[in-house]
Amino acid sequence: MQDETKYAITMENVNKWYGKHHVLKDINIRIKDQEKVVICGPSGSGKSTLIRCINGLEEHQEGKIVVDDIELCDELNSLDQVRGNAGMVFQSFNLFPHMTILENCTLAPIHVKGMKKHEAEELAMNFISRVQIADQAHKYPTQLSGGQQQRVAIARALCMQPRIMLFDEPTSALDPEMVKEVLDTMIELTDLGMTMLCVTHEMGFAKQVADRVVFMDNGSIIESGTPIEVFETPRTDRLKLFLSQIL
Ligand code: ADP
Ligand code: MG
Repeated sequence: MQDETKYAITMENVNKWYGKHHVLKDINIRIKDQEKVVICGPSGSGKSTLIRCINGLEEHQEGKIVVDDIELCDELNSLDQVRGNAGMVFQSFNLFPHMTILENCTLAPIHVKGMKKHEAEELAMNFISRVQIADQAHKYPTQLSGGQQQRVAIARALCMQPRIMLFDEPTSALDPEMVKEVLDTMIELTDLGMTMLCVTHEMGFAKQVADRVVFMDNGSIIESGTPIEVFETPRTDRLKLFLSQIL
C-alpha cells in the first residue's frame, strides 16, 4: 500500500564526517508534517550536526535529506528554498547587535523575500507582540535580557513564515529564571501548526509538546518513542545512563 503520509523532513542513511571523525552514522528518520520532535543525547553525540544538516548549514557526505519535498543537494537553489522553509533558533541568540529588534526581524523578509519595508514591519510587529516584547521593538539586543533576546530570535525566525522550526538548545545559555519564558513561548508556537524539531534536555517541555523523543549517542539514533516511552521505560543502558545524569 502506498504511504500517503506527508513528511516534512526525511533523512535516509545519512552519514557525515568531519575529516576522519564519523559524526552522523546511518541516520534514518522521518518527521511528519506538523509533528513535534525533541532530540536529546549527551554532548558531542551529533545533535547540532544533525539539525544543521537539515537546513544545509553543514553538508552531509552520504544519504538523502528531503525537507518539505526539496532534496538537499549541492545546488544553491535547493539550499535557499530549504532555508526559506525552515527557521532556525540557536543556543546563542545570534542577533545583529547594531540593529534594533525590529530591524533584526525585518532584515530577511526585506532582503531575502523582497517584502516592502512597511509590510515587513507590520508582520514583524505581529510576531514581536506574540513573543511579548512589543515594548522592546526599538531597542538594541544588548539592552534586553537573555530570555528576551532569545524570544527576539524566535520572532525573527517566524518572520520568514517557515513551515518548519529548528531549535538547537534554545534555553541552555539562559539563566535559570529565563528558561520558562522561552519554553512558554515555544509551547505557544505549537498552535501555529508548524513542524518543530528541537534539541533540548528540558524534559518537562518534551513531555508537554513532543509527539516523539529521539535519543542520540555517538552519532547514532539509539531510541525513539513517545516521551513516556523514552523517559519512563528506556530500553538501552546508554539511555538509562543519560537519564540518570540529567534528572
Ligand atoms: P552535540 O550537538 O550533540 O553536542 P555536535 O553535533 O556539536 O554534537 O558534535 C558532534 C561531534 O562532531 C563532536 O565530536 C564534535 O566535536 C564534532 N564537531 C562538531 N562540529 C565540528 C566541526 N565544525 N569540525 C570538526 N568537528 C566538529
Ligand atoms: Mg549541540
